[in-house]
Amino acid sequence: MQRPWDAKRAILHADLDCFFASVEILDNPRLKGLPVIVGGTGPRGVVAAASYEARVWGVRSAMAMAKARNLCPQGVFLDGTYSHYYDVSQQFHTVLRSFTDEIEIIGLDEAFMDVSGCQRLFGPPQVIASEIRRLVKEELGLSVCVGVGTTKQIAKLASRRAKPTISGGAVKAPKGVVVVWPGEEGEFLDPISVKELWGVGPKTYQRLQSIGVERIGDLRGVPNPTLAKILGKASSHLRLLAGGNDSDLVVSESRRKSVGHEQTYPADLSHLSQIDRELVRLAGSVANRMRKNKVLGRTITLKIRFGDFRTITRSVTLTSATDSEGEILVHLRKLFPEGAADGGIRLLGVALSNLKDGAATQLTFDDDYRRERDELSRSVAKIKERFGVDAIAPASLICGGEAGVKRNLN
Ligand SMILES: [Mg+2]
Repeated sequence: MQRPWDAKRAILHADLDCFFASVEILDNPRLKGLPVIVGGTGPRGVVAAASYEARVWGVRSAMAMAKARNLCPQGVFLDGTYSHYYDVSQQFHTVLRSFTDEIEIIGLDEAFMDVSGCQRLFGPPQVIASEIRRLVKEELGLSVCVGVGTTKQIAKLASRRAKPTISGGAVKAPKGVVVVWPGEEGEFLDPISVKELWGVGPKTYQRLQSIGVERIGDLRGVPNPTLAKILGKASSHLRLLAGGNDSDLVVSESRRKSVGHEQTYPADLSHLSQIDRELVRLAGSVANRMRKNKVLGRTITLKIRFGDFRTITRSVTLTSATDSEGEILVHLRKLFPEGAADGGIRLLGVALSNLKDGAATQLTFDDDYRRERDELSRSVAKIKERFGVDAIAPASLICGGEAGVKRNLN
């Protein structure tokens, strides 16, 4: 019989293994077993993903590409096809959503799920976790590791321990699923370095070390006033995390205050046509998620990070809320500052906030044009839902870039 889950909350953290590199290997099986490194291959490029075979050589994501080449000269270095990764990511999220809508997407390859309410339907959380792992392998051909626990922090730490490991210069197969049973949180957390807790950056870590705290177990032994003295206000939440007692919620998109999408580029964008194509893509992706979650937003924010890491945001608040891709795009183009492309762009982000429930909104527009345009947007959304996000795209995407290359649907 399945061991029952004896706690109110059951949280999963699902994380695809070296996502971009795995997609490349899946598309080109000859790369299997080789050190594959995806990222900017230009002079200032950074590693976006590395296969475990590359990690054996010390290559890590976010490392300068030049350093990765030094560590692993025999590696296979690839620029990557981000529109394709996005598409595969949508399929991954679809698998997760087939279990629950209580899902918080952290990135293309990572999400939290609150499965407390769906155990009668799908079984205890450890069974759901294994089923997710099986389905992702079967439907996407990718390996996902899943952590199970009573809090988000524990689930996250557990999924990290479900990953493949490197020992003696070889890659060891992953556990795949790691379950931290209710009541066994302390045992699991105590030996882990405090560095792995949320909110512990280099400075906090130094302060904790100064009072002899290295592991989470040490942290649990420190009296409240001592901790408050060195960490101030942050100490109480850190203590909850360390005790496995935090009540951080899985913030599903319908509960979220904004819906957004950000993309970091392996090589800085500097051509306006390239940037415009990305704006089209980001508007489409955000609108798509808003419709899926039945929300409308009034404030559109564009975030730009330049080649030198300077970051700016520009926003506009509309008179009435929207989920229309076309309307979002018009405003993004207006928000994009003249000359901003000159220094190269490293990251673009689009978010809609000031959200309201879209399902409850009645069509009160007397403007026929607007209604037609929204109906068009919705039909486009339906097509995307059935055939994938790349099945239909505005003309600028089809003519200009890789996103226009349609994937085979079978
Ligand atoms: Mg991952």
